[in-house]
Amino acid sequence: MTVEKKKFPEAEKSKLESTGEALAIEEVKAVSEEPEGVLLKEESTESDWKPKTLLGRKVKTKEITNIDVILDDGKKILESRIVDELMPTLEVEFIAVGQSKGKFGGGKRSIWRQTQKKTAEGNKPKFSALAFVGNKNGYIGIGYGKAKETVPAREKSIRKAKLNIMKIRRGCGSWACNCKAPHSIPFSVKGKCGSVIVVLKPAPKGTGLVVEKECAKLLSFAGIKDVHSITFGMSRTKLNLIKACIYALQELNATKIKEENVRNLGIVEGMV
Ligand SMILES: [Zn+2]
Repeated sequence: MTVEKKKFPEAEKSKLESTGEALAIEEVKAVSEEPEGVLLKEESTESDWKPKTLLGRKVKTKEITNIDVILDDGKKILESRIVDELMPTLEVEFIAVGQSKGKFGGGKRSIWRQTQKKTAEGNKPKFSALAFVGNKNGYIGIGYGKAKETVPAREKSIRKAKLNIMKIRRGCGSWACNCKAPHSIPFSVKGKCGSVIVVLKPAPKGTGLVVEKECAKLLSFAGIKDVHSITFGMSRTKLNLIKACIYALQELNATKIKEENVRNLGIVEGMV
């Protein structure tokens, strides 16, 4: 190979290309190692937002200034900028759904879930990421994005997470505490995805989040501080575990409650 390069003076071009590719790979690696503190592209172009939906136009003209109006009506949010505009304090985090590198259990799991399709040309890789957004005070959203590259997959997942934002019911359903403050959940709930079953139970103050690590991240973003849990099934399938956790939180919202329950359990919906 070295002999060929000496022969052709234009070999420098190919050199540059190859170095460019190497740089790109390095960038991807750096991103996968440090998923925190990622800025969105959409945030940089704040001034020129042209809403495409009626809801978006209403938000831009300040007719709607509270996200509860949209969520209580059961309207579907189709533009992520609506959520950006109404909830500027939203934080973004990723769940490590990918495979860990190396032998013998490997190191840290990455946030990219990588899959491949076998074709005549070769293997076509595809990346996906699971993001969630929350304000640590009663609101949470989760989104799963897939793309051929890592960066678009991440952006897609963040966008979808913002569109799926929902309110979480909090309270104190623990018999050992009975403080009527929204630090835990009001009653025990169950969620199922695949073989994984997650049961979340109310816990007294100071317990902390007694759940799997990634689920704990999710619950802390929703503003829940104390919880007990049990899981059944193949809970190391992280994607199904997180989905089951989300379904459990959705059940929290779907359960019908009476006014006396609101008083006794200190149930709060959304922000305090
Ligand atoms: Zn309590």
